[in-house]
Amino acid sequence: MAVLNDAAPKCAICGQPVEIDVSKTDSNGAAVHENCYVAKVGARKKQKENPKVHQDTNDSGPRP
Ligand SMILES: [Zn+2]
Repeated sequence: MAVLNDAAPKCAICGQPVEIDVSKTDSNGAAVHENCYVAKVGARKKQKENPKVHQDTNDSGPRP
């Protein structure tokens, strides 16, 4: 079936049009790519695991 690009929902995370086949809905009810959603949730989860990362910005720790 023919669908206009304007009618396609846009990913709330990356802003690109979301195809119906791969569309996913986040907790806010907005259309998002599954990959974007996973990345977003994963990033948030990672931040939660390192709550003191904010303090390390001015610290010259060991770098590779
Ligand atoms: Zn996206």
